Amino acid sequence: MEPISIQVVGGSLGGLTAACLLRDDGHDVTVYERSSRELEERGAGIGFLSATAKYLVERAGLDIDEISVATDHIRYLHRDGTVAHDQPHRYYFSSWNTVYRRLLGCFDADRYRLGHELVDFAQTADSVTSTFSNGAEATSDLLVAADGIGSMARARLQPRAQRAFAGYVAWRGMVPEADLPAPIVEQLADAITYFVYANSHILVYPIPNIAGSVAAGDRLINFVWYRNYLDGGDLDDLLTDADGVRRELSVPPGAMSARHEAEARATAGARLPGVIAAVVDATEDLFIQSIYDIEVDAMSFGRVALLGDAAFSVRPHAAAGTAKAADDGWALASALRNEPHLDAALGAWETSQLALGRSLLARTRDVGSRSQVTSTWVPGDPDLIFGLHRPGD
Ligand SMILES: Cc1cc2nc3c(=O)[nH]c(=O)nc-3n(C[C@H](O)[C@H](O)[C@H](O)COP(=O)(O)OP(=O)(O)OC[C@H]3O[C@@H](n4cnc5c(N)ncnc54)[C@H](O)[C@@H]3O)c2cc1C
Repeated sequence: MEPISIQVVGGSLGGLTAACLLRDDGHDVTVYERSSRELEERGAGIGFLSATAKYLVERAGLDIDEISVATDHIRYLHRDGTVAHDQPHRYYFSSWNTVYRRLLGCFDADRYRLGHELVDFAQTADSVTSTFSNGAEATSDLLVAADGIGSMARARLQPRAQRAFAGYVAWRGMVPEADLPAPIVEQLADAITYFVYANSHILVYPIPNIAGSVAAGDRLINFVWYRNYLDGGDLDDLLTDADGVRRELSVPPGAMSARHEAEARATAGARLPGVIAAVVDATEDLFIQSIYDIEVDAMSFGRVALLGDAAFSVRPHAAAGTAKAADDGWALASALRNEPHLDAALGAWETSQLALGRSLLARTRDVGSRSQVTSTWVPGDPDLIFGLHRPGD
């Protein structure tokens, strides 16, 4: 296909990956991001699957070891801290900030427009016009909506695709290695370390620090702890921050209610192995993200395409959310290259990416249910290995 004009709405990892790829193919691409400042997420960790790394490694020429931390074991602990299971397995872990900064550096600064919140859009047979909250308008051949779990575009185009609470939230935190006793860092630095107990599990892994350093001693130890809450009053209370404001999906570091933060720290001390409880204890500010499933039955709507979490939002148990968003971008660029017309390209793209979203959602629901509902996780079960298309891949 000839190059076209494309507006990408949402300038996080999914939007930026797609924008870079489409720009590389000669399309005229502009990114519109709601946030008025470059995005900051205090560096939370992500399992760094190959699809997320692919642009930075293959196109930007970065070494995977510059942008992530490798671990060589999957390890499960007993409550008393002894090893229940250990298997050799290579994972890479990075942080949201590290990947965002690198991708942002690959895109044209004057085509990355901050402070542009999409509030409306209208399309004709061959163009789409967006309106932003600052009064700006943009018209292009294609709108790629990469506006995340709360997507305005999805709400308009797929009103039936409501988010469904999974029944649990992720309690999270990061601690500088330097703030932990050396023996604890030593036990945690070469592995993803799990502890699984009644209707819950926690996982711990090393990540680059906020400045992106991956040097031993500079890194952070990151944890993600899945804990169950009832939808309704129980969840409302948890999501009500220290100032009494009911947050929508997450409560950021420093804003948790003191009561809930104290409960989580006490539970960590009482129920988790000492080495993991020490990480929770040393974390300055805990924060939470609630876990939702979102499923769409279409991703392309004339001149608008939904990408990443704006289409399917999946539970984090495959560590594949950013990888799915990136894969949506790679597949879109390839469809635009290979098909003679935009409609055909979007049709082919939608078929493959709907299948990917559905299979990932089903797999992550199953893994989540085994941990949080039926308590049937078996350490070493190959189904539990992270992966985008299937466990391990
Ligand atoms: C607990 C937890 C753990 C996770 N762990 C992992 C992991 O290990 N590995 C992994 O790959 N993924 C993980 N994920 C998933 C991952 O964070 C998401 O899948 C990923 O961030 C989706 O990227 P995205 O670009 O589609 O959307 P987002 O990152 O949500 O970005 C959406 C962007 O759109 C902007 N925006 C929103 N509305 C508008 C608007 N109206 N106009 C303009 N801009 C707008 C937002 O400001 C934001 O910048 C995890 C998620 C959770 C909750």
